[in-house]
Amino acid sequence: MHELSIAQNIVELVTEEVAKKNALKVSSVLLEVGELAGIELDALDFAWEPATQNTLLDHSELKIEPVKGKAHCRSCHHDFNMTDLFDICPFCQSFDNEIVEGKELKIKSIDIEY
Ligand SMILES: [Zn+2]
Repeated sequence: MHELSIAQNIVELVTEEVAKKNALKVSSVLLEVGELAGIELDALDFAWEPATQNTLLDHSELKIEPVKGKAHCRSCHHDFNMTDLFDICPFCQSFDNEIVEGKELKIKSIDIEY
């Protein structure tokens, strides 16, 4: 499952980060996930428990902040909202679009306990 490996990846990054701070436990992680990142939020949520088991993140809460997709049309230079990677420009119907926002997968903040 794609989302399980993503969750494991996040757990690794967070563990590295909190190890530097000598924290004992992570209570929650806030993630920024773009609409165009190709990640199923439900599946990610579901993968969180098995991925965090026996780690500093055991029983932590996963919070997700979705980021709307936004693109820039290279043909007519309009910006528009994109909900799907195959959306065309609503102004000129061009496929030549550059994604400006919505592909991010970022750890925004980590709540730790000492
Ligand atoms: Zn256009």
